[in-house]
Amino acid sequence: MHKGSEAPGPHLISWNVTLRCPLRCAHCYVDAGECEAEQVLSTEEAFGVIDQICEMGRPVVILSGGEPLMRDDIFAIARYGTDKGLRMAMGTSGVLIDEKAAREIRNSGIRRVAISIDSADPAVHDAFRGVPGAWELAVQGIRHCRDAGVGVQINTTVLSPDLQAIRDVVSLGSGLGVTDYQIFFPVPTGRGNDVPWLTPQVYEDLIRDVLVTYRESGVNIRPTCAPQFRRIADALGIHNPQWGRGCIAGIHYCRIFANGDVTPCPYLPARAGNVRETPLKTIWQESPVFTVLRDPSLLTGKCGECGYRDACGGCRARSYNPDRAVTDLCGGIARPDNPEGDLCGEDPWCRYEPAGNSPKPPSVSLDPADLALLDALQDDIPLVSRPYAAIAARLGITEDEVIQKLNQLQEQGIVRNLSPVLESRHAGLSATTLVALKIPDEKIPAVARLINGYPEVSHNYRRDHRYSLWFTIAGKDERRIREIVREIQEQAGISDGDILELATVRRFKIDVRFSFPGRATREVENGPG
Ligand code: SF4
Ligand code: SF4
Repeated sequence: MHKGSEAPGPHLISWNVTLRCPLRCAHCYVDAGECEAEQVLSTEEAFGVIDQICEMGRPVVILSGGEPLMRDDIFAIARYGTDKGLRMAMGTSGVLIDEKAAREIRNSGIRRVAISIDSADPAVHDAFRGVPGAWELAVQGIRHCRDAGVGVQINTTVLSPDLQAIRDVVSLGSGLGVTDYQIFFPVPTGRGNDVPWLTPQVYEDLIRDVLVTYRESGVNIRPTCAPQFRRIADALGIHNPQWGRGCIAGIHYCRIFANGDVTPCPYLPARAGNVRETPLKTIWQESPVFTVLRDPSLLTGKCGECGYRDACGGCRARSYNPDRAVTDLCGGIARPDNPEGDLCGEDPWCRYEPAGNSPKPPSVSLDPADLALLDALQDDIPLVSRPYAAIAARLGITEDEVIQKLNQLQEQGIVRNLSPVLESRHAGLSATTLVALKIPDEKIPAVARLINGYPEVSHNYRRDHRYSLWFTIAGKDERRIREIVREIQEQAGISDGDILELATVRRFKIDVRFSFPGRATREVENGPG
């Protein structure tokens, strides 16, 4: 809590600029449609809101709705914000983004668009969004944005307990050049049956499955409306410097509703003030709705006792309104009309039982068969077409049993991944280099595709760093490596000052083995090699 001094301004503001929408989503909380919100802010008032935002810093401002593209003045608002130095973004269903709209989005200075794709199956998406053909238009919208040079993120609402459905959306997005995904977890109501398949255990398991599946994939994926992901990631040993606190409501984030009401988050219907009556900066700094959220020592129940209260904090919307569904459909448009609720209570959807204030690692039990399998894996993975069948034969179990056990060990976070380490020199590739490129976000997918066209590139990955794209090349000699780097540099238009080449000077191979109870440790050491 920032007593006696100003709290830092928000990093992110979500703004429901309209409630009009061409879709008919089954769960829509505001019945968005053809009718505009009562007392919606006018163009002039919207410019005034941007001026107010600038009083607090230069946050990212997400123009959402309803469908923000239903506002005739949306590009004028975006341009006004861009010219004031704000980082403008948009949350949209994508159905109204044709080539012209994509160009206008880019020309208004909007840097990134989040488009909702709830399923890789068009029929499932269309049924959820209530309009046939919505999926096709959304996918076309992604293509048009990509072609216009606008960065795209996919927002997905979890519609089933099936991880494969999320995987399918990410595969679809990868094919469209999308690397950033927000996975929105719906919150079922106390009325019991809005999302009947979703229980706290399913919720916890799905968060873990998403984290495990994409931990080293190069895909930037963030479970959203699920602050416990920080606790679960911690238990799995997954750390991502791009992740901030689990719940940022009121701390780094607020929402402006169509009529100017301000809340800490789109799903938290606690009104802190209205920008027509009070400057946004005053609301942010002085409203008790915000000031209590910035003080984790005020949290009660499990969240108050929990060692993760600073990293996670629990979903304040679920604490505030445990008897009401809040689920993302259009960037979150729960009306700010509920003055009753507990901002500081425990999150009723958390499975964790805190013991004091220190996070405890989850206890994991391994049976003798697990230990034998782990030992066999660190001994040798046979280079045959079915390595798990060979290991199974060695252990006297079936191949299916090996695969099932490996899946369980991965879910428990004991096995992160199994992958071959290829000795490139044996393939005649004796020179290797790590290269880092400083390129703008919107160019990353195109440059990554260019890099992937070289068979000498083993992998590339994105980093949250001014050098944003990294890759390794193995070539037959240094001349060939230099050739490849120069070609990439020329084709991507990268200046000499925006590229780092970190040639491998010396290689070390370290073979680490772990001792398991009842088994001897063997010291195996390989020097530089
Ligand atoms: S008890 Fe609260 S703070 Fe702790 S992990 Fe659960 S939701 Fe987060
Ligand atoms: S209150 Fe819940 S939905 Fe809102 S930012 Fe926090 S975690 Fe997300």
